[in-house]
Amino acid sequence: MTAHLEIRSAQKFYKKYTAVDNVHLSINKGEFVTILGPSGSGKTTLLKLIAGFEELNSGAIFLDGQDITNKKAYDRNIGMVFQNYALFPHMTIFDNIAYPLRLRKIPKPELKEQVNKVLQTVRLEDFVSRYPSQLSGGQQQRVALARAIVFNPPLLLLDEPLGALDKNLRHQMQYEIKHIQEKLGITTVNVTHDQEEALTMSDRICVMNRGRIEQIDTPERLYNYPQSKFVSSFIGEVNWFHGEVIQEDSGMAVVKLLNGQVCKIKAQPNVTLNEAIILAIRPENIHVVREGTTYTNTYKATVLEKTYIGDSFRIEARTDTNEPLSIKLPYVVSREIVVGDEIGVGWHAGDASLIPDDEVKEVTPAS
Ligand code: ADP
Ligand code: MG
Repeated sequence: MTAHLEIRSAQKFYKKYTAVDNVHLSINKGEFVTILGPSGSGKTTLLKLIAGFEELNSGAIFLDGQDITNKKAYDRNIGMVFQNYALFPHMTIFDNIAYPLRLRKIPKPELKEQVNKVLQTVRLEDFVSRYPSQLSGGQQQRVALARAIVFNPPLLLLDEPLGALDKNLRHQMQYEIKHIQEKLGITTVNVTHDQEEALTMSDRICVMNRGRIEQIDTPERLYNYPQSKFVSSFIGEVNWFHGEVIQEDSGMAVVKLLNGQVCKIKAQPNVTLNEAIILAIRPENIHVVREGTTYTNTYKATVLEKTYIGDSFRIEARTDTNEPLSIKLPYVVSREIVVGDEIGVGWHAGDASLIPDDEVKEVTPAS
């Protein structure tokens, strides 16, 4: 299957600054892909390159098999929603949504039909005659979405569209946008710095850092098998232990940590024997050892701090090999634990991931 949207070796410089650095990205028809990264990582720039608001310095972009690299933004016919809505304040909701159709000189009866149809899709039929200032933030954002999809674009681009909304509304809108996207089957590229939003909405997530793609994967794989230090810490929380793989045998890897400890973990394809690695374990994958439960790897640890975080407790501990350890425990398990306790903790061989330790490998040339 050929990609619906394909970005090849995209580079964008602002003077000497590389905002988008050798980005390759293939997106299938109907797919919802989120570009996730911290502020300044190049997300908006990448979206502008796709939309045609910025020109590539090198590379190419294909949509539906056509090279659109040198096409003007208008001719790309792509739908776009921005964080700040950018609705026309002096136009009614109807006219705001009809605007792209008027630009395209769609005849009146057809225009009306298309606007009414999309008004239904975003559930705003009762608001046609109002002005943007008479709508709530969520409603305004639905208008912006309606305006972006009313002309049936082949591609929808969303740049932090929910950033200005409060948390509850943001969650509700995430589901709403996702449902609309699925119903229309429209290929979508969404940009956010919100990890949770990326995990809940996306078919695949593309993590960006400093203009580069760090990993493209399904939400589950990204969370469970991060391929870099950056990804492991940017999405969710993580404990890191430095060491190396000293043995691999029938799907299991033996890892020797710098603190001397040896542990066993499911082997993973991205690491090489005898090279520096980081063993990454999520706080929720570390459990208290109790009678009747067995774990591949166990430690003794002293509890330093215990914090209530709503549905569970976070425990900061120190292992008997002097490593800090963050643990997330369900309320019932952690109820009895107090600061100063020595507890046995353990984790399963399949519940950790191995990441190449780039920082050790990278040699900084003397300048
Ligand atoms: P993000 O959307 O991930 O926050 P941007 O794509 O907006 O990041 O910006 C990436 C980097 O490029 C930032 O360091 C930003 O300052 C820089 N940048 C963006 N647009 C311009 C511009 N028009 N001129 C100069 N630098 C820019
Ligand atoms: Mg941005």
